[in-house]
Amino acid sequence: MKNFFRVAFSLAVLAGLVLLERKRPLRRERESKLRRNSRNLIVASLGALTAHFIESPVVRPLAHIVERKRLGLLKQFTLPRPLEIFAAVVLMDYTLYLWHVLTHRIPFLWRFHAVHHVDLDLDASTALRFHFGELAVSVPYRAAQVLLIGVDAETLSYWQMFLSLSILFHHSNIRLPRRAESALSWFLVTPRMHGIHHSNEPAEANTNWSSGLACWDRIHQTFRLDVPQEQICIGVKDIDTEERVRLPVILAQPFRDLS
Ligand SMILES: [Zn+2]
Repeated sequence: MKNFFRVAFSLAVLAGLVLLERKRPLRRERESKLRRNSRNLIVASLGALTAHFIESPVVRPLAHIVERKRLGLLKQFTLPRPLEIFAAVVLMDYTLYLWHVLTHRIPFLWRFHAVHHVDLDLDASTALRFHFGELAVSVPYRAAQVLLIGVDAETLSYWQMFLSLSILFHHSNIRLPRRAESALSWFLVTPRMHGIHHSNEPAEANTNWSSGLACWDRIHQTFRLDVPQEQICIGVKDIDTEERVRLPVILAQPFRDLS
């Protein structure tokens, strides 16, 4: 039932973001919205099935074992519960920053993550569009995060909720007041920040790797907010025609030319 409320709440947030995208768009879109959003929702459905049938059966039971046997870093201390949850969310968020860097740097992982990046526009539907292969290959890393940090099932749910809301928000095509966004970007990843990460220029794309808290980019000096959104071409160079981003093409993309 808890899961049901989490999904319902995320859908309500998504609906709110879609309304705001229509009222205050940040970037002009290149492709037909209906076609893109339908494609992204199909990719998202395959991703949801993968999360349900491959990720959850590994990560959830592991989180219960962590709790029962007090495994992992945070379970070695008796921290007040709110502090333990906060520390776990921060550590999960930081290790996800590292994973995101790896998905760009390691060619095998980039094959899968590139499917997320070849979207020719960026909006809340892009937040849902991760290739099922990317979700599957991230399971061992996710399991290691849970085990080493010491994340129990309840804490895992809090982190998943935080991450879902954050990625919906920073992928959205919403024009926030510039000064408010500048201030917010000290704490959270914002739409302009993530728009720069989705640029087809490597010098711009290789920045803003954070997925929740923006501090990791500040600490690693990978933060950028100095590229006007109207100058950004969203996508990946050489994979930027409508032919190259059709649904069957992007689903097969990670497996192409594998030798
Ligand atoms: Zn990326």
